[in-house]
Amino acid sequence: MDYNKLANLLFPQIKKTPADYEAIYPPRNLPEGAKVTRLGPSPTGFIHLGNLYGAFVDERLAHQSGGVFFLRIEDTDDKREVQGAIPMLIQALHHFGVNFDEGATMNGEVGDYGPYQQSKRGEIYQCFAKYLVSQGLAYPCFMTEEEIAAVREEQEAKKVNPGIYGEYAKCRDLSFEEVVDRISDGQEYVIRFKSNGSLENHFTVVDAIRGELTMPENDQDVVILKKTGIPTYHFAHVVDDHLMRTTHVVRGEEWLSSLPIHVALFNALGWELPTYCHTTVLMKMDGETKRKLSKRKDPELSLEYYKQEGYHPLAVREYLLTILNSNYEEWRIANPDAPAEDFQFTAEKMSSSGTLFDLDKLNDICKDVLAKMSAEEVLRYMLDWAEEYQPAIAAMMKDDPDKMIKIFSIDRGGDKPRKDLVYCRQIFHFISYFFDDHFMIEDDYPAEVSMKDAKAILNRYFQEYDENDDNPAWFEKMKAMAGDMGYAIKPKDFKKNPDQYKGHVGHVSNVIRLAITGRTNSPDLWLIQQIMGKEQVRGRIAQAFQDIG
Ligand code: GLU
Repeated sequence: MDYNKLANLLFPQIKKTPADYEAIYPPRNLPEGAKVTRLGPSPTGFIHLGNLYGAFVDERLAHQSGGVFFLRIEDTDDKREVQGAIPMLIQALHHFGVNFDEGATMNGEVGDYGPYQQSKRGEIYQCFAKYLVSQGLAYPCFMTEEEIAAVREEQEAKKVNPGIYGEYAKCRDLSFEEVVDRISDGQEYVIRFKSNGSLENHFTVVDAIRGELTMPENDQDVVILKKTGIPTYHFAHVVDDHLMRTTHVVRGEEWLSSLPIHVALFNALGWELPTYCHTTVLMKMDGETKRKLSKRKDPELSLEYYKQEGYHPLAVREYLLTILNSNYEEWRIANPDAPAEDFQFTAEKMSSSGTLFDLDKLNDICKDVLAKMSAEEVLRYMLDWAEEYQPAIAAMMKDDPDKMIKIFSIDRGGDKPRKDLVYCRQIFHFISYFFDDHFMIEDDYPAEVSMKDAKAILNRYFQEYDENDDNPAWFEKMKAMAGDMGYAIKPKDFKKNPDQYKGHVGHVSNVIRLAITGRTNSPDLWLIQQIMGKEQVRGRIAQAFQDIG
């Protein structure tokens, strides 16, 4: 068979040769050891935590080594494409501090290794498919869906491996004339890779995360170009990552099983393999069991969730680093104030068995990250979030920025800052009692205080409250009131002799706390009242008095 003739028959329009593309996309001129990584998302519109997790690995590997990180849009599957998905993805990743050096951007493409959108690379794939055909390493396959289904049935009956390989690859050895006839007959065809591998033979690759992997060779004649001339993932990955000079392919472990196909294709094309980094899936604890995060069950799998809830991007980044590298936390303890970029991230320190994602842990990290920020920074961050997701709240906060700064200054700074703030939605709820429209009584009056006493406490407080009292003077009044009404002035006296008192000063002040904040747990009550001002304080007390009836 004259394979050149076959190649020209199948791809008459392709004039360029592989050598032309090698010249158009020469090896990158980068310092020794610089890594080139890429993110290859499909524009489905759903951006999940796994995308960000993988993107962090890519970004760190590239930027730590003085290399390049680029974005390639893998849009060969028309069915999955969603309008506007690409800008959405770029913005979402940017929000979390992941920025690309090259590839698809908000303003078109940047870089010398494009196009960076697979749907625009048709001729390139066809050139390399043509080359493989010309070498006798690929062939047109006319098998119909029915024929393939019949083969599958036969294989099931014989209990042999499914797929198109060896004797089941019916079009492997068609003559040139047969091919011409079938094409003239209008029969559709795909291009299949002609595998010469065998499951009996094994090969070894070193995965940067998983170490040495030994796997059986690929024996399948996989499709490399579909009927439409569009490449499959396997072929596009190999051609693109070679021509874009990717050094490290970071991708999910779901691709591990097709690694033998990719290795066979790299070998057939005479190209060096990139270093593979197969990341693990993200798992969560569901009761006692560990399971994969699921799109259907777990809203926290979607990246949008973190934006909507208003997670600080630095906290998300910080948390992802702790699950990405086992030694990150230790480093963080030793370097509490260093920027995360100073940490030397390595693929080798990544987990190779399911990574546990723990929202509670993320929340703890948020508290630490936010506790270190200034009140002004917290306000700016809250405003950014509210402007996008809660415009009415944004307007309210902008109404009185001084008050907001005071609110966010409560117990901030110093050696032991309060760690109440987690993410914007929670933060707004946490401070919502400052705003009459959002104020709600959330807790119950302390059990130690009867309703009759609560009324009396509110009444006396209303008469006596003086906003000019400093904190000790204010508390002295509280103690006096407690003592007069039969409550212990010191909690420990009540604990020692519970029969002698109705309760203690804390219970009395909690009546006031509940009236003012709606909760029995809050930051310093005196300070809260100072920020609210006399009118609001008296209004709340009067309202609570009335509500008791
Ligand atoms: N388009 C593939 C995906 O979305 C990318 C896999 C890869 O990074 O090679 O899973």
